[in-house]
Amino acid sequence: MSRSVLVTGGNRGIGLAIARAFADAGDQVAITYRSGEPPKDLTAAGVLAVKCDITDAEQVEQAYKEVEEKHGPVEVLVANAGITKDQLLMRMSEEDFTSVLNTNLTGTFRVVKRANRGMLRAKKGRVVLISSVVGLLGSAGQANYAASKAGLVGFARSLARELGSRNITFNVVAPGFVDTDMTQVLTEEQRAGIVSQVPLGRYAQPEEIAATVRFLASDDASYITGAVIPVDGGLGM
Ligand code: NAD
Repeated sequence: MSRSVLVTGGNRGIGLAIARAFADAGDQVAITYRSGEPPKDLTAAGVLAVKCDITDAEQVEQAYKEVEEKHGPVEVLVANAGITKDQLLMRMSEEDFTSVLNTNLTGTFRVVKRANRGMLRAKKGRVVLISSVVGLLGSAGQANYAASKAGLVGFARSLARELGSRNITFNVVAPGFVDTDMTQVLTEEQRAGIVSQVPLGRYAQPEEIAATVRFLASDDASYITGAVIPVDGGLGM
């Protein structure tokens, strides 16, 4: 059965792979993106692309309305949009800290809250949040990012408790290092250092994250909520 699926940050990287996976399975998919243009083949395949900065509550409301008008209330929400602003603590400005929290954590709160209006009415819903292995292990130079991604775990688990009786599940996927624009900034030396720590000895492909997200949104995961699933090649174990 085709469902209304919304993926934030779905124009590239992990979000794009997630959007493609749901669209290939026949779901009605909408993505939000902050900048650039969504890939032409994605929109040609019927995916609705809406420009929206999740740090702006009004833009979230407008984007959500557009999705609702075209696809009906969102049944599966994948909160994927996120940023990094890496800096060592003593060089990290308050803006470096709050902007990462405002996008990754508060931005996710805005989207999840809006989507839950429809999910509560429908008495069902699936929410998958994209955290990171860094939120579980910590990472030098990424205290802002790690705090935001760890925050998503507490956020999801609280909502799993709060809304389980309403048939809405909240799960977290914690990817390790994935081949996307976000990790392109690393030097060859940094990449080699990371790979040497990963039991599977390589980066993940975005499609490997998407497969787990689809599972969590499927009927096969009907009794899973409040879970944090690492998809990290064994890095965090
Ligand atoms: P990416 O930089 O390629 O994509 C990030 C997406 O988020 C883009 O579509 C961008 O438009 C969107 N976005 C950023 N700020 C936004 C805002 N204010 N409003 C709306 N959209 C915004 O990154 P990616 O690697 O595909 O990462 C996707 C998610 O996975 C992020 O949450 C990231 O933290 C997480 N993650 C990535 C890795 C990795 O190794 N790449 C590992 C673990 C977790």
